[in-house]
Amino acid sequence: MSEAPEIAGWKHVYSGKVRDLYAPTRGSDDRLLVVASDRVSAFDHVLEPGIPGKGALLTSLSSWWFAQLAGGDGGDPVPNHLTGEDPPEAVADRATVVTTLDMLPVECVVRGYITGSGWREYREAGTVCGIRLPEGLQNGDRLPQPIYTPAYKAPLGEHDENISYERTVELVGAERAAELRDVSLDIYRRADRIAAEKGLIVADTKFEFGVDDAGTLRLGDEVLTSDSSRYWDRAAWQNGSTPEERMASFDKQIVRDWLAANWTNAEGRCREGSAGDGPSAPEADDSDTPPRLPADIVTRTLDRYRDLLTRLTA
Ligand code: ATP
Ligand code: MG
Repeated sequence: MSEAPEIAGWKHVYSGKVRDLYAPTRGSDDRLLVVASDRVSAFDHVLEPGIPGKGALLTSLSSWWFAQLAGGDGGDPVPNHLTGEDPPEAVADRATVVTTLDMLPVECVVRGYITGSGWREYREAGTVCGIRLPEGLQNGDRLPQPIYTPAYKAPLGEHDENISYERTVELVGAERAAELRDVSLDIYRRADRIAAEKGLIVADTKFEFGVDDAGTLRLGDEVLTSDSSRYWDRAAWQNGSTPEERMASFDKQIVRDWLAANWTNAEGRCREGSAGDGPSAPEADDSDTPPRLPADIVTRTLDRYRDLLTRLTA
């Protein structure tokens, strides 16, 4: 795994699967420097090699979405963790200075369309994360309305786990749980509308929120990136006849599909499912360590991330 770089004036305090966090060397630590690395994770595993340039693309995508949601799209501003302070020159393209939040242990997942692990559960049980859905849905279909399917944010090294709404009430209290759900569904609807203007679909996404010193709920981490969301091409979805044609993706799906086909341990490990859904290839690697990503998967993933940024921001 790539090392967190040394940055003058900041000390490294934590590394998640993708981001490295730094606190100021001097003064209070009410601010953090979030540096997006080129690491890529799928099925809750960090893979090798990284995807050169991915961290910068993720940072640009998040910044663009934070600006939209802060009122750039004409809607009500959603409070976020950005301070507006310039990051250090050395990591300027991939870093953001943020307000330190008390992060809530809930990953706020919203699904507007059915695919991946949701599709697998639906095929077996007619539900997605325990929520009953109408019969007859196909992989990639739009849901009658977006659904909120929270997950427990497991500590590093453990797998996130789907939880019921009631469990989120136990974790953060009734008022905060309702706020998380309502804000998440609102942001999803707003984002899917904005994406539609660019010929895209936000099929599903995940938000992380934290609380500031004043007790205000703020959007933290990354938002609506191709790591945290599934993006599809709207025209392909409308005109395609097979699931593959309909779900022309601008996200990590290439990585998930490749891993699911080449690593027996990928499937069933966590909620992050692949749209492929087929059985693993017979020659698939069954070791505990994920196989190395081939060069063409790395290049294609980076191209898709770049295409998404261009389409959204053009
Ligand atoms: P994944 O996002 O893939 O589920 P992860 O959360 O382990 O995994 P990263 O996104 O790499 O991986 O880690 C970033 C970490 O920084 C997360 O633990 C996130 O909750 C935390 N974080 C993000 N924004 C803030 C903030 N404003 N204040 C405090 N912590 C934050
Ligand atoms: Mg994260």
